[in-house]
Amino acid sequence: MLKFQILKNSRKSSFRIGKITTLHGSFSTPAFNLGTEIILANTYHLYLRPGEKNIKKMNGLHQFMNWDKPLLTDSGGFQVFSLAKMRKIKEDGVEFSSHIDGSKHFLTSEKVIDIQYALGADIMMPLDYCATYPCSYKEAERAVRLTLAWARRSRERLDKLTSKDRPALFGIVQGSTFSDLREYCARELIKLNFDGYAIGGLAVGEPKKEEWKIIRHLDKILPKDKPRYLMGVGDPEDLITATKLGIDMFDCVLPTRLARHGVVFQTKNLKLNLLKSELKTDKNPIDKNCSCYTCKNNFSRGYLHHLIKEKEILCHRLLTIHNLYFIQNLLKQIING
Ligand SMILES: [Zn+2]
Repeated sequence: MLKFQILKNSRKSSFRIGKITTLHGSFSTPAFNLGTEIILANTYHLYLRPGEKNIKKMNGLHQFMNWDKPLLTDSGGFQVFSLAKMRKIKEDGVEFSSHIDGSKHFLTSEKVIDIQYALGADIMMPLDYCATYPCSYKEAERAVRLTLAWARRSRERLDKLTSKDRPALFGIVQGSTFSDLREYCARELIKLNFDGYAIGGLAVGEPKKEEWKIIRHLDKILPKDKPRYLMGVGDPEDLITATKLGIDMFDCVLPTRLARHGVVFQTKNLKLNLLKSELKTDKNPIDKNCSCYTCKNNFSRGYLHHLIKEKEILCHRLLTIHNLYFIQNLLKQIING
């Protein structure tokens, strides 16, 4: 089940403000899929550890984490492509070795749906083939062909599993930086009538110009009345640009990854590296005007610098809180104009 309401359309661009309702309540868009209204869980990691069967025994992921709001799960495909030691792409799925213990696994498009269903996701993603950048036209073509075949099979699998109170399923557009392949992939997915459409395989190393060219092209093709989800983009300036091209949902490791490396957002185009030695005795918080837990409670830059130096994990938490708050706040500002 997924309901998408557009509350306001911009006259100047494709920007829109909306509300998405799932089986576990609603969230406003544009949304970054980490934060207060909806969170993203990684299927690949949960499948390997603790395993979807154990999560099912704990009554699903919502209960397991004590989170009663919307949950989105990815297909695990991106992690298989980026983390797994060995991977072989076959017609019906991906074979890979776990990055944890080297154990062999084979994920078919059907199995990926079964796992997400067992986890109890509100929004699911089908297995897709994320081609690396740069890739040949031929490889991108194969990625599109398999992504479409898997999308069709995922759809059928979910229809077989449930009809009532069905979780939402998105289609993922692949095709690297080739506009014609992207367009073909999008048009074929639209025929299958998914609950929303994700743009995958971008922000994987291609020049920004190429990325915007594809998003701009897809803005004209993807249906306006369905949510659009740009996967793996989380840089503040990029979020602003993408919302103007009609993107409603985002997720990205950037805010948490930067935090782990001692880097925090200051403004939409300025970051601060707390490891800099001149901050050792800086009494100021990260940002005087920020109302996040870390800044509001006046954890000084000097103290945060010390925590990072000592590899004290508290700093990961404190910096992550600030970075996520910053992104949430940025989207709030975009929504409120
Ligand atoms: Zn802050």
